[in-house]
Amino acid sequence: YVDFNQKIDYVFKVVLIGDSAVGKSQLLARFARNEFCVDSKATIGVEFQTKTLSMDNKTVKAQIWDTAGQERYRAVTSAYYRGAVGAMLVYDMTKRQSFDHMTRWLEELRGHADKNIVVMVIGNKCDLESLRAVPVEDAQEFAQRENLYFMETSALEATNVETAFFTVLTEIYRIIS
Ligand code: GDP
Ligand code: MG
Repeated sequence: YVDFNQKIDYVFKVVLIGDSAVGKSQLLARFARNEFCVDSKATIGVEFQTKTLSMDNKTVKAQIWDTAGQERYRAVTSAYYRGAVGAMLVYDMTKRQSFDHMTRWLEELRGHADKNIVVMVIGNKCDLESLRAVPVEDAQEFAQRENLYFMETSALEATNVETAFFTVLTEIYRIIS
């Protein structure tokens, strides 16, 4: 429960990155509004959505940024990363290529963001287990090697979406408080 007249103690900017069509916008819709839109169009225009939560008696506003269909290599601008304290690096577990591109996204993120940024790798669409193209071990190994959090999610079925965002936000809170 959040009292909307309450003052905001912290604003945490978190960016979503990863290839087009991996489910970034649907993860955001699920987290911020508990919605999923079956035939979503590619995102146009940079947008962020906020969700206010309380943590440890403090009011935290999570400001989650979504790419404006700028997922082509190097098209995401530095303004997008500016001030980010968290990042969700999303791939589609049914598309190997989207996982292979994680190194590229991570490199870009590290080139632009603060070095203390909290990063989680997300293997989305885990409801499509029969189409899996990325073994969980591959992603775990990558995350471990790069010292990142990792979770598989389904924006469609709402699996692990809150947990993923809460994990990142809690870790950010732990670092700054
Ligand atoms: P974005 O380009 O990364 O923002 O991807 P979108 O959020 O627009 O999603 C791309 C497509 O994948 C859309 O058709 C979504 O309905 C679908 N999608 C997103 N998340 C999931 C999921 O968890 N499971 C399944 N089965 N489809 C998903
Ligand atoms: Mg999108």
